[in-house]
Amino acid sequence: MPFSVAIDGPSGSGKSTLAKALAKKYGFIYVDTGALYRAIGLYIQNKCLMSTDVDGIIASLPEIRIEMRLNDGQSEVWLNGSPVGDEIRTPMSSIYASDVSKIPQVRQFLLSLQRDIAAANSVIMDGRDIGTVILPDAQVKIFMTASDEKRALRRYNELISKGIKTTYDEVLKDVKWRDENDRNRTVAPAVPAPDAVFLDNSGLDAAETVDAASAIIDKALKELSGAVE
Ligand code: C5P
Repeated sequence: MPFSVAIDGPSGSGKSTLAKALAKKYGFIYVDTGALYRAIGLYIQNKCLMSTDVDGIIASLPEIRIEMRLNDGQSEVWLNGSPVGDEIRTPMSSIYASDVSKIPQVRQFLLSLQRDIAAANSVIMDGRDIGTVILPDAQVKIFMTASDEKRALRRYNELISKGIKTTYDEVLKDVKWRDENDRNRTVAPAVPAPDAVFLDNSGLDAAETVDAASAIIDKALKELSGAVE
């Protein structure tokens, strides 16, 4: 039976760095669900619709085909037959992703894609509602947190390393705005599942964060193998 690890938490909490490292360590598929919302946001942005044009966005869904293709242990997001790249990582794309993700029809549109990949593969899936909505039966649920400043600094460094022009202040503003937007929406708000384990990595480096998460996963794997024996 496939094993699922759900990692939820606010932007810049280090979910994707952790998820990628864990996927490599355990040989599971890494699924970046934020990229799905970002791809829809990109399509809407390229169509020159406002990110708040709910009716226009819903009417556009039949024109959008999103796929997840597996490549070397990673899932790649394809939009209408082409892979999406770093164009979904700009500050404007983040705003579009956060706004489109508030629309129930958009979330429904992406639901089975996420569940299907977890039904067929052991996954480390990161997002906002993985433990609460997408994979409520995941064997491991981790909710990551870190201070606003720490999260903004990480995201700033990530964007700069990708050659995307921005300032720390702009990123901090975006991080705070998106947290509010993601946490306070009515559908699938970015809140921890009741059975999630909290992992605050403000004071941990990447390797220490992997160690802390691995301890949680190893315990679950051990319990599962005990239950199977
Ligand atoms: O994780 P990332 O920052 O790339 O996600 C971009 C946006 O997509 C988030 O701000 C959030 O609004 C939305 N999202 C979501 N549910 C997920 C993953 C991302 O609503 N599972």
